Amino acid sequence: MNIFITGAAGFLGSHLCDRFIAEGHSVIGMDNFITGNPDNLSQLAGHPAFTFYKHDVSNYIFIPQKVDAVLHFASPASPNPKSPSGYFNLPIQTMKAGALGTHNTLGLAKSHNAKYLLASTSEIYGDPTVHPQTESYAGNVDTIGTRAVYDEAKRFAEALTMAYFRTHHVDTRIARIFNTYGPRMDLEDGRALPNLLKQALSSEPMTVFGDGLQTRSFCYVDDLVDGIFHLLMTDEHFPINLGSPDETTILDFARSIKTITGTKSNIIFQPGERSDHDPQRRQPDISRAISLLNWEPKIKLREGIQKTIPYFKTKIGIH
Ligand code: NAD
Ligand code: UDP
Repeated sequence: MNIFITGAAGFLGSHLCDRFIAEGHSVIGMDNFITGNPDNLSQLAGHPAFTFYKHDVSNYIFIPQKVDAVLHFASPASPNPKSPSGYFNLPIQTMKAGALGTHNTLGLAKSHNAKYLLASTSEIYGDPTVHPQTESYAGNVDTIGTRAVYDEAKRFAEALTMAYFRTHHVDTRIARIFNTYGPRMDLEDGRALPNLLKQALSSEPMTVFGDGLQTRSFCYVDDLVDGIFHLLMTDEHFPINLGSPDETTILDFARSIKTITGTKSNIIFQPGERSDHDPQRRQPDISRAISLLNWEPKIKLREGIQKTIPYFKTKIGIH
């Protein structure tokens, strides 16, 4: 197949490009580098099965080759208000990538009679009142909250994807992706793993926001990519949670990183960093993924962090 992937120069997009090429497909990548990095695709430079277009998906997309599948991953994704690449600082670009970018990529899929997969997010559940989160839970999102530019763009993207499925019979899928980590994350984008692992490896204080009792469930990137691959190969049109069900408090997550790296860094608390918009609990119910995709994550946190450390050390410049 010819697989078209937007956000190809990002963390998840670049791993998807690698995976589909390894499976013998051809990949057409697109990115405008707003939060991504061309280095993430350096391993594919000159590869005969890889083509790349620098383009903003908010504008009309023309692809001369035949496209068999469209994977829409282009969007800023970090919620850190201090990061220049966080969606707080790219609010309109984020809404355009989720709204206009989704419209353009759905239109592309329709015109090529291609399969379509939307990268949605656990953020569509907002600060959830149901735990763990099942796909039937409709969410708790404030339309004018500080995270709304991301959350509502993704909610709109899901609604538009279902409209193209129901109205135009485009062969769509929706992946609700939960926190994922691994090599090629942007060390400066302020998400939990990059911040805490970079701090641990640099012997700097490890910053835990609030009391650290908020929870997340972290999935290693190879597992997530495997879930996306399985989802693309099925005919399931309704949303599917993809992520790790292993819930941890952020304080315990920081402690795990401290133990695994053997750092002498201390854990420090930064009260109020995200106090008005930090979801308190997040854990996917992955029953649908297990039964429909025969998929669940295999890589435990310790192994995943160990696999991530060499990339971070190279980026930081330590050996
Ligand atoms: P990322 O920032 O590393 O990658 C996003 C990529 O999209 C970047 O390369 C960026 O330059 C590109 N991009 C953004 N807007 C664009 C535009 N208008 N035109 C072209 N390219 C554009 O982030 P990521 O973590 O790899 O996330 C990828 C996707 O997965 C996003 O849609 C995100 O919402 C979704 N997601 C990620 C996670 C996670 O834990 N990483 C969780 C849930 C959902
Ligand atoms: N967090 C933290 N210290 C950091 C970065 C993040 O305590 O240096 C917390 C953040 O407040 C949130 C959790 O880690 O509760 C996950 O944050 P992330 O940015 O990875 O993504 P989110 O799940 O909030 O979208």
